[in-house]
Amino acid sequence: MSKTEQNCDGGKLIIISGPSGVGKSTVVKQLIQQCELPLELSVSATTRPRRADDQAGVNYHFLTDEEFQRRAANGEFLEYVEVFGRGYWYGTLKDQVSTGLNSGKWIILEIDIEGAAKVLKLYPEALTIFIHPGNLEQLQRRLEHRGTETPDSLARRLEVAKQELAAASNYQNIVINKTVEQAVETICQLLLKSKNHPSGDNTECTTN
Ligand code: 5GP
Repeated sequence: MSKTEQNCDGGKLIIISGPSGVGKSTVVKQLIQQCELPLELSVSATTRPRRADDQAGVNYHFLTDEEFQRRAANGEFLEYVEVFGRGYWYGTLKDQVSTGLNSGKWIILEIDIEGAAKVLKLYPEALTIFIHPGNLEQLQRRLEHRGTETPDSLARRLEVAKQELAAASNYQNIVINKTVEQAVETICQLLLKSKNHPSGDNTECTTN
């Protein structure tokens, strides 16, 4: 196979980041339902408390601190981060990713910028997408409207959001979440495009 050809039948890793409250989960859920690709969300593990609308095993695997640390020590995470510096851990489980990729799935990691940087060292060919709120005021309104945060955790999330927005330019693609429909359509189109041009350059796919 020449340097400008690549077999594209295998799985693909997609990293989606964006500040808390930007609407990542909603966009990703609809993307998986609507985009005609074998997309699958990697369900992360976390020690944060469950919210009323969280489903265990669907949104996250909710673990105790002890269980999370045990799995970390056991090398079960691809990456793990204490996302808001408030004692709650989030981590990508290795077997979620490898099982999916080995069966030809396009695995979506919905993770923070620090976790994304760690994954990129292991999977430099991953496609990266940053979902942007447009501006910080819009993000604040969304988080307040969601009603899931105490004033303290809201302030903390907005502080982290500032750092995350500053990192957006490190991503291959930035998608502004004006409406969920538009964001889903934009992301689906760029994924479909990457199917034929896997490295974002003019590398062509070959078939066996
Ligand atoms: P939330 O508590 O609102 O569900 O998520 C908070 C943040 O944690 C989100 O921005 C999300 O991207 C990030 N996150 C969720 N799962 C993981 C993970 O497995 N690893 C990392 N590094 N971040 C995660």
